[in-house]
Amino acid sequence: MKLARFFKDGLIHYGIVEGEDVVEIEGSIFGSFKKTAVTHKLNSIKFLAPCEPSKIVAIGLNYKAHAAEFNKPLPEEPMLFMKPSTAVIGNGDEIIYPHHMSHRVDYEGELAVVIGKKAHMLKKEDARKYILGYTCCNDVTARDLQGKDIQYTRAKGFDTFAPLGPWIETDLNPLNVQIETYLNNEKRQDTSTHDMIFDVYHLISFVSCVMTLLPGDVITTGTPSGIGKMKPGDKVEIRIEGIGSLVNTIRN
Ligand code: MG
Repeated sequence: MKLARFFKDGLIHYGIVEGEDVVEIEGSIFGSFKKTAVTHKLNSIKFLAPCEPSKIVAIGLNYKAHAAEFNKPLPEEPMLFMKPSTAVIGNGDEIIYPHHMSHRVDYEGELAVVIGKKAHMLKKEDARKYILGYTCCNDVTARDLQGKDIQYTRAKGFDTFAPLGPWIETDLNPLNVQIETYLNNEKRQDTSTHDMIFDVYHLISFVSCVMTLLPGDVITTGTPSGIGKMKPGDKVEIRIEGIGSLVNTIRN
């Protein structure tokens, strides 16, 4: 099931995507909900980020080949950083290039996990029950600032640096799906999540042993190799098998 959040006729709605349509639902995607009789064409709605996270916990260096392209040793445990909720944008929105501070802004295509219920101190084998579903994330990064600062907060935290979407797919095996990134329709990243150093369930358990996860929180699980820079006017697409495509453009 594909759960979308969208803007239509001046109001925010949630719905289930079915083919070229979205069926409005009533209730909560984190509790119980049911379909209504109201349906819209997908091309008539404005997609919003599919959830409103209180926090985005991101994982650095979680693919072997990506660690190699940075000449970094493989981590012994997951490396965490955070992106602010104010960085979130949805499918079709624009990433704003922060020229006032950065001259190197990169895409990072990633599988993102959306938490379904409050989670604290989970065992790995229980993690699945706390996951609502999965979406695409672009962990946009000011690479020059990441190198300059010890912390990642500035490099990863600019407004518009956390595109999420286009929707939440609730039925997905996160252990083996293909992640592809296209820059101006040219493929730049293409790796299976099978190549992760720490898998999704390990990550959810690990993060929940640090901080309580709330419904709608997002864990973004690291990028494969093939990262690269973007410039104003570029179009970037994160495509994940079984989910769909998150498309954004870059602007000044
Ligand atoms: Mg990343």
